[in-house]
Amino acid sequence: FVLPHTRGSSHGQTRIIRKAYEQDFYTQMMDECYKLWSQLEREAGVTLYRQTGLLVMGPEHSDSYLLYKNTMERNNVPMVILTPENFSQHIPNVILAEGDGALVDINAGVLYADRALKTVQGQFQKLGGVIRDKEKVTDITPGPVVTVSTSAGIYRAKSLVITAGPWANKLLAHIGLQLPLKVEKMNVCYWKEKVPGTYDVKKRFPCFLLTEGEESDRHIYGLPSNEYPGLVKICFHIGAETDPDHRDKQTDRSDIGILQHFVARCFPGLIPEPAVVESCMYTLTPDSHFVLDCHPAYSNIVFGAGFSGHGFKFGPIIGKLLCELSLGEVPSYDLSPFRIRRFQGNTKSAL
Ligand SMILES: Cc1cc2nc3c(=O)[nH]c(=O)nc-3n(C[C@H](O)[C@H](O)[C@H](O)COP(=O)(O)OP(=O)(O)OC[C@H]3O[C@@H](n4cnc5c(N)ncnc54)[C@H](O)[C@@H]3O)c2cc1C
Repeated sequence: FVLPHTRGSSHGQTRIIRKAYEQDFYTQMMDECYKLWSQLEREAGVTLYRQTGLLVMGPEHSDSYLLYKNTMERNNVPMVILTPENFSQHIPNVILAEGDGALVDINAGVLYADRALKTVQGQFQKLGGVIRDKEKVTDITPGPVVTVSTSAGIYRAKSLVITAGPWANKLLAHIGLQLPLKVEKMNVCYWKEKVPGTYDVKKRFPCFLLTEGEESDRHIYGLPSNEYPGLVKICFHIGAETDPDHRDKQTDRSDIGILQHFVARCFPGLIPEPAVVESCMYTLTPDSHFVLDCHPAYSNIVFGAGFSGHGFKFGPIIGKLLCELSLGEVPSYDLSPFRIRRFQGNTKSAL
């Protein structure tokens, strides 16, 4: 597709950036990630991050909530723990369910996603990189020199990095590899404020994440109104399976019912009917951890895939790690959670 496009996973104006995670390794990688985003902002002279904080809510004694809280405590992530007594003073116009705990990851915020992509592409070109969009990769032939055929030509390189998002398995098929990836279409819902500005980013309303609730044991998350004035983005972390080449054939809206119930219960300042619904895709691995690895037979072919709906904030580190792998360097982080050998039996290799 011609860049920018809305057919994959990275479009839209905003993504959440946070250190609040269930696993130490993500929280620890975010340290450097914040620094790299800020370096990019300085080098390009643009603003890509806005601090809003991230409110994490969930049943106080549940594993799902405690995993976040404990990881943050262990890693000294700056946070504020709210109580049922002081909650509404800090977070007005949100109902905290009885028995729910609440904390705020103070340095979390919003990344301006489409601006970030444009900036990265611009910096890449400034450094001599060439972007060839509107050019479909149709074949890959491995070897000491990799050959990539596209709709417009043939390229040869000593090493190749593949990051095809929801199309990862379609591309990996050319090199005899299939990963256990599931592509889901996500309904990206925007909810109208009854009084404009109630949940606005300018009023310092935070991003939020509900670990589990009355409606579901899966995450519901949201961002303050920002890109569309008067509209708050609130989404369910589960979608319905689709084929990326036929995304919109999937018309399931069962998540919207779950969200309507949640909005009516917890956000009294929103109309519990989505005003805008857009589409995006997740590419999920069975454990929701990324895939960052080399091809088992051709170490000069490296791939990043399966970002499972939480990869954007890690963009700079993912780029750094894929670069290290392609240069044969020792990766800066332990990649064992991201290697394909964890899928033993699930990875089909035709080689
Ligand atoms: C609704 C939604 C909300 C999200 N919220 C967050 C969040 O708050 N925080 C966060 O960190 N992450 C979030 N994510 C996840 C994050 O956006 C994704 O993990 C990330 O954008 C994935 O990027 P990607 O490069 O893997 O895929 P993509 O952006 O889809 O890029 C893949 C590219 O490969 C190209 N391509 C594929 N096949 C070929 C081919 N044969 N030839 C040429 N080009 C090809 C595609 O055209 C596309 O441009 C969210 C995702 C969604 C959908």
